[in-house]
Amino acid sequence: MNARPTSRTPRPSCGVMAIGALPFHVWQIWDAMVTCLKKGDVLRFVAGAGVMAHYVGDASQPLHCSYMHHGVPPMRKVSGRSYPVPRDSDEFKESKKSREAKIHGIYEETMLEVDPAGALAAVDDELKKRRAVSIDRSGHRAAKAVIALMNDAQTRLAPNTIIDADDPSQSQTARAKALWDDDQISKATIRSLADGVGALAALWTSAWQVGAAPRSPRPRSEPTKKRSLSRSTAAIRSSWPSLGLDAMAESGKFEP
Ligand SMILES: [Zn+2]
Repeated sequence: MNARPTSRTPRPSCGVMAIGALPFHVWQIWDAMVTCLKKGDVLRFVAGAGVMAHYVGDASQPLHCSYMHHGVPPMRKVSGRSYPVPRDSDEFKESKKSREAKIHGIYEETMLEVDPAGALAAVDDELKKRRAVSIDRSGHRAAKAVIALMNDAQTRLAPNTIIDADDPSQSQTARAKALWDDDQISKATIRSLADGVGALAALWTSAWQVGAAPRSPRPRSEPTKKRSLSRSTAAIRSSWPSLGLDAMAESGKFEP
């Protein structure tokens, strides 16, 4: 689940101000989805739902929202405590080229390609065991739900557990298979994926309910073509750009 921004997508740099912004992006998109629906623009509501899926998917992954995103980064002592070096430092950029740092893609992508059909069936089974999640209907609650999702993912499977189980001297395929064959890791991953699906469904549902959806929603532009949906996705991203934390604070839109 590596973010792949397009050249036209406004994005904060991957610097300090982008770190920790994920729950606020979900808040922003949730609000945007509600606004679209109130105007009867179902197409943009759906486009927003798709953009939100990326963020919620990332939040359900233990490595993603941790400083060990790419494995253990170089650390620096400040006032006796250890901190990761800044992400825009040469030291960090260099560390990302190491075999160890490939753990992010190996865990989140290659590992799930070992047995995709089995993984999907296991997520389905996990979802059947659960009750639907419900989320209070506000952007603030949407952000809080995503913070809980992140916390649960890391409590269930600590980033260090994944990193310690990995042998970077092996090939990427062998590393992925070893992780998938590790019962603790595969089971926790299935649960986290199911958690992400449940949270996403609840976020979509709550936005739909608040937007006072008409009984028979009809997209404004019919028929709904893939092209118009992708145009709506581009429009939603430019109307509600992915802001850095400083710009979010200045906007005054993110007060509970
Ligand atoms: Zn990821």
